[in-house]
Amino acid sequence: ASSGDETATFSMPIYACQRRTTLDHRNAVFTEALSLLAENAELSQDEGRAVAFRRAAATLKAFPEPLTDARQLRGCPCLGQHSLSVIQDILENGSSREVEATRRSERFKAMKLLTAIFGVGAKTAAQWFQEGIRNLPQLHQSGRVLTRAQQAGVAHYDDLTQSVTRAEADTIGQIVEEAVGAKLPSARVTLVGGFRRGKLSGHDVDFLITHPEEGREEGLIPKVVAHLEARDFLLYHKNNRNSYTEASGTPASTMDHFERCFSIFKLPMPEGGEPHSRQDDVALRRGECRRWRAVRVDLVVCPFSQFAFALLGWTGSKLFERELRRWATQQKNMSLSSHALYDNKQRKYLKAATEEEIFAHLSLEYIPPSERNA
Ligand code: ATP
Ligand code: MN
Ligand code: MN
Repeated sequence: ASSGDETATFSMPIYACQRRTTLDHRNAVFTEALSLLAENAELSQDEGRAVAFRRAAATLKAFPEPLTDARQLRGCPCLGQHSLSVIQDILENGSSREVEATRRSERFKAMKLLTAIFGVGAKTAAQWFQEGIRNLPQLHQSGRVLTRAQQAGVAHYDDLTQSVTRAEADTIGQIVEEAVGAKLPSARVTLVGGFRRGKLSGHDVDFLITHPEEGREEGLIPKVVAHLEARDFLLYHKNNRNSYTEASGTPASTMDHFERCFSIFKLPMPEGGEPHSRQDDVALRRGECRRWRAVRVDLVVCPFSQFAFALLGWTGSKLFERELRRWATQQKNMSLSSHALYDNKQRKYLKAATEEEIFAHLSLEYIPPSERNA
């Protein structure tokens, strides 16, 4: 730490998984600017640039004091020319011209709006943008054939673009636990994703489900879905079967192979509750009373022996996960996924029953979920 001396440098470890990153930090102006450029790069499918901006933002999230002078950043990792010039611009002018121009650009605004539709990725949105589609009415007029997911995304657009609260996540947790408990008693349901990291709101709610007797969890998703459907809790769901085998090679990919369900829940709203969305207002004016809202929910089922890896992999943040895998590969000659950890030198899988054991295998200090907000 510095003692007021300008030449003193704060030394920060290179990989985000070596650092403790809490939700609140001192440099939101800078991290928001860099995150917007990262988002823009993602929307342009420029993965390399996106990761560079994400890493730069993560460095500033971990920086211990408000930035007032770029010289404070000496000794800090992952700050390239481009990110530094954005930071410098903000320090000198209060904002970055590039960031503000991006924020206002027609392409960025339209791409954000279109990718906010559930089931629409950057590739599809870019194609639509190319064809002159900028918003939902234009999408409708274009007569484009939408997938089942996209149809649900359009139908529930207002609800799904409104963030989910912690209270709503807990209510959904109770519904999921009841359904899982009815189909497979003593199965365990764990809240993962951003809410496990302590976030107060999220874009969806993520649950990891397992059973202490390995094998009992197989085929659970269709049963749970049937239970939820019978109680009118589902507006949309798409199930995927487990496709993981150790023979499928070294497990270093970001996508995992668990049995899972991407869904949209129909969440009952408390009686007499305040209306949430524009759809509510419309419904209320019509004299109808909406008693539910749509919420994105991810359900993932894993075998008990993979639970620690799945828990670590589904807790995030996305950058923290990416950095863990990069550390494993570059520093340990290991391959980490949400299924397993493989040691390429010893040519064997390293077992773990807890997240702590995985960090230990990787020679990393344990970082709790609330400090994985890179
Ligand atoms: P938000 O509040 O926006 O939902 P989040 O951190 O929960 O934030 P998610 O997109 O829900 O973000 O992802 C949660 C975690 O699950 C992340 O760590 C991500 O790496 C992991 N994840 C998401 N989708 C997949 C997938 N298809 N395969 C493997 N892991 C995934
Ligand atoms: Mn989530
Ligand atoms: Mn999710």
